[in-house]
Amino acid sequence: MPLVSMRQLLDEAAKGGYGVGAFNVNDMEQIQAIMGAAKETKSPVIIQASRGARSFAQDRYLFHLILAAAELNPEIPIAMHQDHGNSFETCKSAIELGYTSVMMDGSLKEDGKTPASFEENVAVTKKVVDYAHERGVTVEGEIGVLGGIEDGHGAGGTGLEHVTDPDQAVEFAEKTGVDALAIAIGTSHGAYKFTKKPDGSVLKMDVLIAIHKRLPNTHLVMHGSSSVPRDLQDIINKYGGKLKETWGVPVEEIQLGIRNGVRKINVDTDNRLAMTGAIRKVLWDTPEKFDPRDYLKPAREAMQKVVALRMTQFGQAGHAGDYQAVSIAEIAKGYKSGALSTKPLVAR
Ligand SMILES: [Zn+2]
Repeated sequence: MPLVSMRQLLDEAAKGGYGVGAFNVNDMEQIQAIMGAAKETKSPVIIQASRGARSFAQDRYLFHLILAAAELNPEIPIAMHQDHGNSFETCKSAIELGYTSVMMDGSLKEDGKTPASFEENVAVTKKVVDYAHERGVTVEGEIGVLGGIEDGHGAGGTGLEHVTDPDQAVEFAEKTGVDALAIAIGTSHGAYKFTKKPDGSVLKMDVLIAIHKRLPNTHLVMHGSSSVPRDLQDIINKYGGKLKETWGVPVEEIQLGIRNGVRKINVDTDNRLAMTGAIRKVLWDTPEKFDPRDYLKPAREAMQKVVALRMTQFGQAGHAGDYQAVSIAEIAKGYKSGALSTKPLVAR
């Protein structure tokens, strides 16, 4: 199957009532781990690259690795997504390269650190939407600001400072025509999300549910949604790591989100933990080894295990064969004719 539009993938997820994991990649092993899991569980999937990933791996390498994934797995729908685009130019460069989806994170200014005004966010996001939709490319926007910093991107803080206001979410969706909407409900990027198992005082699932009630047909996106499982933390610390005690977003909260309009769930930290734990174990147990394959293979396997588990938990497992890819050119026509609506349904 060629790369598919993320809009198509999320529309199908909404029909089926499931969520789709969006997994970050930086290298070949991570792409292979995701595809191994997608094949094993028969899952459609979103592969996403941050600006940091694009610069680490170099655009052409990463792009062609993801194309190889599509070539080798014709039965799996794959959307290629730019994670946290900081400007129109970043999104444009991803679209020119062949990404089928971009996130314009206008919640922050172009420096990727300073919270932007609502008006600035609407303006830059709308500009990306106009450019992307003309080319059949999906757009995710963000309203509210997440906590934490990852790859130099983020406002820092706890994630509770700029929780999304449901009224603003409605206005943002109406003014921009985004296909998917990332909201801030107290989550943060990175491993250190919560200092104890999160409850409603720090993880605002009530805000998510309120937004879904107002925007029942809008695909919601949960960022910073690794679960940071204790067993993965323990492996790292058992083999010489020094992670501080931390909590992520419990899977049951994500599943509650999926029942309330969440269609895309971003997961990165869990995969990083799984790979690092596996590498540490090999190097600790067998310090005489020096062939990178000796630790990259177990690292890839450990990540595949986590991804496959998330695919099952999010409900995307078993859905790879539900539909045929609509070409990006057809998707562009759909936006133009209005067949693919960008006017959100608003419950008042
Ligand atoms: Zn994010």
